[in-house]
Amino acid sequence: MSTTQRSESMNSFFDGYVNSKTTLKQFVEQYDNALKDKIEKESKADFNSFNTTIACISRFGFESQFQKAFTNEKFKEIQTEISSLMYCNAFFERNDGLNSIFWVIESKRVYDRNKDIKFKVFFNEKDFEIQCAGCLFEFKGILCRHILCVLQLTGKTESVPS
Ligand SMILES: [Zn+2]
Repeated sequence: MSTTQRSESMNSFFDGYVNSKTTLKQFVEQYDNALKDKIEKESKADFNSFNTTIACISRFGFESQFQKAFTNEKFKEIQTEISSLMYCNAFFERNDGLNSIFWVIESKRVYDRNKDIKFKVFFNEKDFEIQCAGCLFEFKGILCRHILCVLQLTGKTESVPS
């Protein structure tokens, strides 16, 4: 294959393994080597994630729960949400059936200015069902700062359902 035919990801996959003078026989062997090295790199990353623990930044019980349940990469994402709690304030609005409705006001930095942005959070305490209009959980599988803020306001910081 010529360089222009190769996609970027294939380029990086074979970087250092093949060049323009590689024969077909060598290519097959090098393909095998590239694959083995890739697998080894991935298992090393998995191993590191299970053997290094990132320290908690809060005293909330749910944080140590996430620390145990998530890989390090995912745990770092939730820590960003936890550290952003300082820019959020939650207010109870009203009850609607089983749901309590809250507003969370987050002070965000938008073009060098602070801007207050409102997020609506629904919380069914009885079944521990909680949902934010921002939908971070639906997209990335982690609880957002607004949900955590409502848990903090309602004193439900010890743990969340698995
Ligand atoms: Zn949210």
